Amino acid sequence: MTNVPFFRPDIDDEDIAAVVEALRSGWITTGPRVQTFEAAFARYVGAAHAVAVNSCTAALHLALAALGLRRGQAVLVPTLTFAATAEVVTYFDATPDFVDVEPDTLCMDPAAVETRLARAWNRTTEIVGAIAVHYGGQMAPMPRLAHLLRAARCFVVEDAAHALPAAAYDPETDRWIGVGDLADVTGFSFYANKTITTGEGGMATTADATLAQTMRSLSLHGMSQDGWTRFGAGGSWDYAIAAPGFKYNMTDIAAALGLRQLAKVDRFRARREEVAARYTAGLGDLEEIEPPRERADRRHAWHLYPIRLRLDRLAIGRDEFGQALAARGVATSVHWRPLHMQPYYAQRYGYRAEDFPVAFREWRRLISLPIFPGMSDAAVDHVIAAVRDTAADGRRRKFAVA
Ligand SMILES: *Cc1c(COP(=O)(O)O)cnc(C)c1O
Repeated sequence: MTNVPFFRPDIDDEDIAAVVEALRSGWITTGPRVQTFEAAFARYVGAAHAVAVNSCTAALHLALAALGLRRGQAVLVPTLTFAATAEVVTYFDATPDFVDVEPDTLCMDPAAVETRLARAWNRTTEIVGAIAVHYGGQMAPMPRLAHLLRAARCFVVEDAAHALPAAAYDPETDRWIGVGDLADVTGFSFYANKTITTGEGGMATTADATLAQTMRSLSLHGMSQDGWTRFGAGGSWDYAIAAPGFKYNMTDIAAALGLRQLAKVDRFRARREEVAARYTAGLGDLEEIEPPRERADRRHAWHLYPIRLRLDRLAIGRDEFGQALAARGVATSVHWRPLHMQPYYAQRYGYRAEDFPVAFREWRRLISLPIFPGMSDAAVDHVIAAVRDTAADGRRRKFAVA
């Protein structure tokens, strides 16, 4: 039986050769390859500055540090996201203030943000910013969100871990807005299963030179210059500590892989888009599921292909559906249990599951199918057949006696 993994990174011989070359070069930590990767990445996403780090979590942490988040303040975070988005807020003894998501895109809902901001006067914590997440690779409604947040003097951070590359159309300005264009700082992930990978890695981008400089310094102990500058020709051993920082710098080994991966990013996206289109063509008529909904005003990165089960038409639940797919050789995942339903956040802030009705209702029926650039049409067809067979087996019989 065919086994389709949930994800497989696309690493070719040239990627491997680039890493070997870095290993043999005599300089393996932050150095010339990181500089080249940062410049190429900034050019690709159209950002003035890019700071390479060892994860997207680190990029988001540095973003909040550079933006001056302080203890007791609050940052709006969609509840349907990965742990990292909210966790970085807690690093400051600040509050991740959850908001619900839009029913179709599952991204942070501008209406929910508006309501939250309007009620903020009545809370003990001050909302100072928001982190938008581009769920599955479809961009959050950034023009609308940025407008609302700017009007409330809030900073805007994008968690673009899923969204290299993605875009949204802005009717106000009649132009396409790329990921990061409307944010103060944007974090990208190069984790093993993200749209490009360095094994572990991330990038913070910004238009603001001061924010970039602060993040760069904080990424390496708050030092005024990195090892490559210090130990390179004309450098000196000395440095100044402007503020205590962190150990978040990217290695040249990782950057060597990142440069090669970045060169393939558009080809990777094109293939993921084909896989998504093949799924939608093969599953669109199936009454037991709903394919992901792509808005006409978005350019989707297709990092994930999350289907939603029609639980009213099925006699089995989401987890059983996933187990049945596993038995048919298809690995799946769920993105994600909403954070307000995780024990820590539920207990710490007293959230009830129903507090965010869209996230509460939708996550129970979400299941992400395999999607990656190296996936063959035969593998996609195997998954389609497995989903169809599982739906047929699990179909609720109309006249069955309960
Ligand atoms: C993967 C992911 C992160 C974390 O990325 P790392 O590089 O592993 O730190 C953050 N946010 C979202 C939405 C993610 O999917």
